[in-house]
Amino acid sequence: MISVAEARETILSRIHTLPAERVYLEDALGRYLAEDIIANMDIPLWDNSAMDGYAVRVADVTKVPTRLPVDQEIPAGAHPWALAQGSAARIMTGAALPEGSDAVVIREDTEEHGSAVVILRLPQKGDHIRFRGEDIKKGARVLTQGSLVGPAQIGVLASLRRARTLCHQRPLVAILSTGDEVVDLDEELSPGKIPSSNSYTLVSLVRELGATPLYLGIAHDTHAEIRDNLARAQRADLILTSGGVSMGDYDLVKEVMTSGQNTMAFWQVEMKPGKPLAFGSIGDIPIIGLPGNPASAMISFYQFARPAILKMLGARDILLPRVKARLKTPLRKKPDRPHYIRGMLESGQELSARISGPQGSGILTTMAHANCFIVIPKEKIVVEMNELVDCEVFGPLTAENSALIT
Ligand code: AMP
Ligand code: MG
Repeated sequence: MISVAEARETILSRIHTLPAERVYLEDALGRYLAEDIIANMDIPLWDNSAMDGYAVRVADVTKVPTRLPVDQEIPAGAHPWALAQGSAARIMTGAALPEGSDAVVIREDTEEHGSAVVILRLPQKGDHIRFRGEDIKKGARVLTQGSLVGPAQIGVLASLRRARTLCHQRPLVAILSTGDEVVDLDEELSPGKIPSSNSYTLVSLVRELGATPLYLGIAHDTHAEIRDNLARAQRADLILTSGGVSMGDYDLVKEVMTSGQNTMAFWQVEMKPGKPLAFGSIGDIPIIGLPGNPASAMISFYQFARPAILKMLGARDILLPRVKARLKTPLRKKPDRPHYIRGMLESGQELSARISGPQGSGILTTMAHANCFIVIPKEKIVVEMNELVDCEVFGPLTAENSALIT
């Protein structure tokens, strides 16, 4: 049986980053940059006032109070003239600084007398000025290839007047659930049947990463039905299936992967849960056969499908971030495989982690209450209270999560 790292390497070696395309800013959200962004201008473009007040020359205010005539008013958006010697300019936040001024005195530190102002506090050079280029210098590399485009990145691109930007294409990820027992939400839940939760978690996981899901529905456990459904994935960049990769008589996904032009590169990974995992290709499309058990399907998705999809999306960081945390629920396990335990990571003076509840591979609620996997190495048998453990973070650290666990 191969290790998680080996399995991931094998998968990633057969996954390629998708080509780039120019997209409008509004379509860039959730994609990954296919170019470095080099500033073609300074931001701010000119020195401007950070406050409402009076632009002055510091040399003109050597004592307080000092009375200065007001030679102009500068609202935001106006173009000022040079400040006359021995005078002040009334200026608003964001307005360009008049040439010759070197400080802004905030309104609260002045008394306004019609066409004159009395300065009540000694200014220092640079007070309340936002200098040209203090945020971004022309020529600087502001954003790097492979970064996720979020709202702040979009704002930076807009500041630089980049209406379009080069991003990687979104992969199309086909999803097929299998099982004679699983039915969709609009089908009757007759005896022996269960709702196909995997269909919905997998579509959501794919969409959350910024890829486009192509849901193929549910195939019964027959070779022909699985094969025919997968034939509808011809345009897909990756196929995910759930179920049908264990040892049972009706586990036929593996069989489909080993027939015709299809291939199976490996089956079974040394991990718990998530051992039944198959990887190969349907024609030339990579396929990850995820386990059917809902918690296993998600854990395997995070370990294998997520990095594959992120690689296709052109992301620089494709693995879940790992942190060390103090374990608050001591545990015991067999030295059989590495365990990926659904846990809750909590912030505090130091990070702590707790098991989020029962770990059966069919138990999905402990996944819903978790924000990390506590990873316990294969050989380890006992983990004591407060021992440092590795946690792979996939969800936000919230107080809400902790309230759900007793
Ligand atoms: P399998 O690997 O096909 O034997 O499935 C393992 C377990 O996962 C069985 O208990 C299945 O009923 C369950 N399962 C399979 N597919 C789904 C699905 N789409 N949604 C929820 N549970 C499923
Ligand atoms: Mg099945």
